[in-house]
Amino acid sequence: MSTVSGAHFAFTDRWGGVSAVPYAELNLGGAVGDDSGAVHTNRELAAKSLGLDPARVVWMNQVHGPDVAVVDEPWGERPVPEVDAVVTARRGLALAVLTADCTPVLLADPVAGVVAAAHAGRPGMVAGVVPAAVAAMVELGAEPARIVARSGPAVCGRCYEVPDAMRAEVAAVEPAAHAETSWGTPAVDVSAGVHAQLERLGVRDREQSPVCTIESDDHFSYRRDGLTGRLAGYVWLD
Ligand SMILES: [Zn+2]
Repeated sequence: MSTVSGAHFAFTDRWGGVSAVPYAELNLGGAVGDDSGAVHTNRELAAKSLGLDPARVVWMNQVHGPDVAVVDEPWGERPVPEVDAVVTARRGLALAVLTADCTPVLLADPVAGVVAAAHAGRPGMVAGVVPAAVAAMVELGAEPARIVARSGPAVCGRCYEVPDAMRAEVAAVEPAAHAETSWGTPAVDVSAGVHAQLERLGVRDREQSPVCTIESDDHFSYRRDGLTGRLAGYVWLD
């Protein structure tokens, strides 16, 4: 966990939960086939380790799209919307994003008191989910120059092999995402694409996790393992 001017950013790894193989241990994803009781316990454990009330964590129904929801309360009994970014101006409300190779992006303008969490896989990055999240933050009073951006563990550009045509399609939208695997084949670097988008928007305080989920035994990786758990990123304001 890191803190900047009262904004907190945290990314989980796979350890410290109660899920069994292949979700061991701290699977936080509720739609990957794991026991729902285990996921519930894991979400409580993760929240408590961060000093959060698990009932005050807002999750998404992620669909690899560009849509953003503005929230000021947990969903409660309401259906969880199909969005890949959530934004709030409510202090103490934590926003969470689930990933297992996609790039989790946490954003905060501590001055305006606005935070966002976004799920940027290849389709979401191309569709502009992160710029959409920034735009929603700006509508709530944030300024890009004040936004602190942290991206979490994700598949790196040296591991994310794609067909040549797909790399060309992605690079046509976001040239910074053009990459090559360590074995010399076409690849996409989603995190590099996300950071290029943020840079163009004027978000200067950016940090990218050095962890590659495929290369790390401490993280879930869908491309490596197929049936596996989900990591979470959390962002909130005091
Ligand atoms: Zn890698």
